Amino acid sequence: MDTPTTILLLAVGSFVICALLLVFQRHKDAAQRIPFLAPAKFLQGAGSLVLYLRGPFPDVLTVALGNTPLLLGCVCEFWAAAHLADRPVSRRAQLAMTACIVVACLAVCALPPVLRPVILFTGHAGLYLLPAWVLLRDNETGSLLRRTLGVSYALLGGLFLLYSLSRGFGDGGEPVLLGLPLEMLPGTGAYAMMLVGACSMLLLAKERDDDALERTRQSLSRTEAQYRQIVDTALEGILSLDAEDRVTYVNARMAALLGFAPEELLGKRIDAFIAPEHLPAHAAHMAVRRKGGDAVYEICGVRRDGEKLWGLVSSKSVMGADGTYQGAFVMFTDITTRKTMEAALEQSNRSLAVLTRTDGLTGIANRRHFDAALTLACARHDCQGAPLSLIMLDIDHFKAFNDLYGHVEGDACLRRVGETLTKTVVGRGCLVARYGGEEFACVLPRTDLAAARQAAQRIRLAVRALAIPHAGSAAGDRVTASLGVVTWAGTAPASPRDLVARADALLYRAKSSGRDCVVCLEIGETAAPARTDRETAD
Ligand code: GH3
Ligand code: MG
Ligand code: MG
Repeated sequence: MDTPTTILLLAVGSFVICALLLVFQRHKDAAQRIPFLAPAKFLQGAGSLVLYLRGPFPDVLTVALGNTPLLLGCVCEFWAAAHLADRPVSRRAQLAMTACIVVACLAVCALPPVLRPVILFTGHAGLYLLPAWVLLRDNETGSLLRRTLGVSYALLGGLFLLYSLSRGFGDGGEPVLLGLPLEMLPGTGAYAMMLVGACSMLLLAKERDDDALERTRQSLSRTEAQYRQIVDTALEGILSLDAEDRVTYVNARMAALLGFAPEELLGKRIDAFIAPEHLPAHAAHMAVRRKGGDAVYEICGVRRDGEKLWGLVSSKSVMGADGTYQGAFVMFTDITTRKTMEAALEQSNRSLAVLTRTDGLTGIANRRHFDAALTLACARHDCQGAPLSLIMLDIDHFKAFNDLYGHVEGDACLRRVGETLTKTVVGRGCLVARYGGEEFACVLPRTDLAAARQAAQRIRLAVRALAIPHAGSAAGDRVTASLGVVTWAGTAPASPRDLVARADALLYRAKSSGRDCVVCLEIGETAAPARTDRETAD
């Protein structure tokens, strides 16, 4: 094959490869996308075509239209090789190299014609040695393909250099190597390089892409292993659920909290581990999750051994691209200890509250509770205007009882009187309390004088009916009680202090009336006692 034919084939081959590369480049993510290679082939094709048409003699026009694009194509090929070797050439260097080539070609035109091929072939040699250099530089990381391509460029660069030297230092005749005209070498080498170079570059690009993919895959699996270890060894319970609320992943901590092995929980519906009384709340939170909402709430679960497991749940919904619910990630913090302590504290507070309003001896309401109840009853009376009655009771000659039977018996007597009061006064909202010592009080809201008087009589008779012997009483042979009853029937504001004072005064009158009796008084609209007060002593 003579040189012009080789150059023509070079031109045609370069255009074909350029066209193929352009087709490949339509796929943006394809591995075969190699920057600068298509322009390189186009410029090389164009330059070769000009050389073929104008002949090898490098006149000014041939240099401008043939050699310059050819050299620019070579430099583009170098950039492509540098890109594949992960040593991309900077934009500034690209501009500088382009400018150098153009200026060098212009300068070549000013040289005598005999020197032009020497400079041009030296330029070619340099531009082939450059990709050889970048491809062979990192020996340890370069693949066989990369090294082969690098060596090919080096050989081609060497051929061009050899030819250029033979032209520069020859005797002017046609140089010959091993009996072959040396002129054949650059064209043939460039042709061979054109055939293998583009293919090798495409394969190299694919290899590089596969390597990158493999590295990404390895990095991903390393990251996944790290995350899995973090999740598996987390102190919090972690699980993921599918759209049907079935467990798709559970960490060791969560499984241990529920008393299972992780694999035993996979595929199970999570509501199987929720305490029955918390299922409605769970369903409500599920509804929120299905709409994509995140939720933080407390819920009670049931362990395998039936024990309760309280947890603070923090859930994050996973929604598909179409907005449908795909499942959720759930973080579970064990708060059973806290909840147990809270329950114990609540219970103790309740007991304390009961204690603070209960009389230690009789078990009925104490003075503090009585004061609060009477204040509330007065406030209600002021709002609603319904009559409010208060009974004050005092055991007769109780000091003598103590003296005769002792304080232990006295205490027992007080307890029995308290029980009797509780059993006798059963109206809604009524309160029976120990006022102090051997005195008791009953608050009777919404109770008029007649009803209060009846209640007081029932109490008096019930105390008598206890038939607790009292040999020291001047009022009879048994324990008796005197009662003062006051009813606030007016619309004027009722005062707890006034009510107690009035009831106490009536109690005193009952005492002075011979004891074991009831004295009543109703306070009406007007303050004039002579007309509105009514007293009864039994
Ligand atoms: P009166 O008929 O006038 O009410 O005479 P009384 O003796 O009942 O009244 P007094 O106020 O003189 O005495 C009340 C007695 O109640 C004195 C006290 O020892 C007794 N007492 C008060 N609190 C208790 C108590 O908690 N237990 C016992 N056993 N006795 C009590
Ligand atoms: Mg007394
Ligand atoms: Mg007394």
